[in-house]
Amino acid sequence: EAKSSGGDTLCFFDPIMLSIVTARATMEADIRTGIYQQQFLLYYQPQVNSAGKLIGAEALLRWQHPLKGMISPADFIPLAEESGLIIPLGTWILKTACQQLRAWSSDRQTASLTMAVNVSAKQFRQPDFVKSVLSTIEEIGIDARKLKLELTESLLVDDIEETICKMNQLKAHGVCFSLDDFGTGYSSLSYLKRLPLDQLKIDQSFVRDILIDPNDAAITRTIIGLGKSLGLAVIAEGVETEAQLAFLQSQDCHAFQGYLFGKPAPELNMLRKLVSA
Ligand code: C2E
Ligand code: MG
Ligand code: MG
Ligand code: MG
Repeated sequence: EAKSSGGDTLCFFDPIMLSIVTARATMEADIRTGIYQQQFLLYYQPQVNSAGKLIGAEALLRWQHPLKGMISPADFIPLAEESGLIIPLGTWILKTACQQLRAWSSDRQTASLTMAVNVSAKQFRQPDFVKSVLSTIEEIGIDARKLKLELTESLLVDDIEETICKMNQLKAHGVCFSLDDFGTGYSSLSYLKRLPLDQLKIDQSFVRDILIDPNDAAITRTIIGLGKSLGLAVIAEGVETEAQLAFLQSQDCHAFQGYLFGKPAPELNMLRKLVSA
């Protein structure tokens, strides 16, 4: 069968296909082991306001692989999603981020900080997602209003009614929502109006060339204006230079995240410094 249907058919004995399948299976097993052996950790990246004052952080997943070193989430989240391993991983991420948030809350210096946590589509689509978030909040004992879940556009429009329902259930307990990588995905304005969001997060691809590409500058301006009209906060991600910051501030953007303020890092000592800045 495979032989008769031509060259690009997926053939069982194709050595290249076989090596790809093997590599994927190996990584999947590695992720399982990694969860079990606690090779995953969270880094935290500061989020600041116009005055440069620390207002919160985003939790970013890292994988300290015993042989391959630090692996970037971009290299394993897609496979973790496909394999379903993002579910146990996502549970661990939320729990760990909430524990860190509780630690901040109990220290006067860091008491007001918020925590942003990325949620993958597969995770959000789980029937017990709402229940699992609420029980984590309760078990760890954090103020839900300080927890901000970052969702992406594609996730939101997938099943809009279910999405709104889940978001509202969590919002009723105080949980906030930010729309990550805004502007890169597919989202119509009518969806945006219906979703109970708190914040839009301008994607770093627009921020990067904000001073050299007039289109990126225009898109950024539009997103900030849109946020204002819809009553949503706007945060810019990927801010690396003072010039980018100045431009964003001139456009009335009030929250920022990027290397200019701090790279994602494992410790909050860096955060403490920023609090008192
Ligand atoms: P994201 O949520 O949009 O996170 C922002 C990414 O931009 C992070 O990459 C961060 O390190 C990077 N970044 C921050 N500031 C700057 C900057 O000034 N310049 C540049 N060039 N980059 C900057 P990271 O940590 O590699 O994460 C990549 C993506 O992986 C994230 O994009 C998110 O989609 C996903 N991810 C990370 N952690 C998690 C997680 O815990 N759960 C899920 N589901 N996805 C995650
Ligand atoms: Mg994010
Ligand atoms: Mg983003
Ligand atoms: Mg991104």
